[in-house]
Amino acid sequence: RAKDAGRNGFSFYNDSMNQDIQRKLTLNVRLHQAISLDDIEIYYQPILDLASRKIIGAEALMRWTDSELGVVSPDEFIPLAEKNGLIHKLGDIVLQRACSQAASWQSITPLKMAINFSSVQFRYSEQLQARIVEVLAQTGLPADKLDMEVTESLLIDQESGLMTMLAYLKQLGIEMSIDDFGTGYSALSYLQKFSFSKLKIDRAFINKMASSKSDKALVTAILAMAKSLEMKVVAEGIEDEQQAQFLQSHGCEFGQGYLFSRPVTAEAFTQLLMEQESLGVATA
Ligand code: C2E
Ligand code: MG
Ligand code: MG
Ligand code: MG
Repeated sequence: RAKDAGRNGFSFYNDSMNQDIQRKLTLNVRLHQAISLDDIEIYYQPILDLASRKIIGAEALMRWTDSELGVVSPDEFIPLAEKNGLIHKLGDIVLQRACSQAASWQSITPLKMAINFSSVQFRYSEQLQARIVEVLAQTGLPADKLDMEVTESLLIDQESGLMTMLAYLKQLGIEMSIDDFGTGYSALSYLQKFSFSKLKIDRAFINKMASSKSDKALVTAILAMAKSLEMKVVAEGIEDEQQAQFLQSHGCEFGQGYLFSRPVTAEAFTQLLMEQESLGVATA
């Protein structure tokens, strides 16, 4: 073994590099195909009001199962799509489908739809803005039922018109949220200046709260600052009751995570909404 590593170290390294390149090439081809065959699915994860435990929103999450490669995680194919340009097409699919779905769910409950947007999509900001307006009009989804999730990376090499665009979308009634908060490096006051009214605490912090005093302190500090700036907060990745209780008692209004539900198909989500509404009637 030691001899292998010494003498064949380089070739082993090259093999794994080749495998990596090979996988990316294959994924590129298959992703193109998946888009044209309409194989991209959208799952929905409930976002709850922590006090009432009612579903008040959904986050749209892309799912791709390739016939040969099996399930490919968005954490793998989204970064790839950002490099090869397919993110624009993928972004349009999720925008169109999730808005249309949310419009139809309005007859059950006034639900808000959170959609993830890649910073790369903002490189064609005029087209993106026009497309959002168009999709809202076509689907009939009220603008205040759309929640755009972006990450802090959007603000790193800002295009000159970014602030104007974000202000425009906000003025339409669209909510702007910062996703994975805590993993980037923006100050909260800076985000507020850019029209963001909500932040989602990254699940890494929620996950480590029980074992790490510093993560618990960080979450508490974020909640206190968000409150003083009148920003809403969603905690991601809530997996147990203790986390939910702690967050709620420290002023976190909204939450999402496996404790409540994993991301599910539109059909399953409809079922969750119907159950909730019938319970509401029963206990009213
Ligand atoms: P994200 O936007 O931060 O989405 C939340 C992720 O956390 C989702 O992973 C969700 O399934 C997962 N999650 C939620 N609750 C829990 C929990 O309690 N425990 C654990 N372990 N995980 C939980 P998913 O669906 O694999 O998506 C990963 C990332 O891929 C997303 O992170 C987002 O950055 C990106 N993504 C997914 N769909 C889209 C999309 O339509 N457009 C763009 N641009 N990005 C997307
Ligand atoms: Mg998100
Ligand atoms: Mg996130
Ligand atoms: Mg993420």
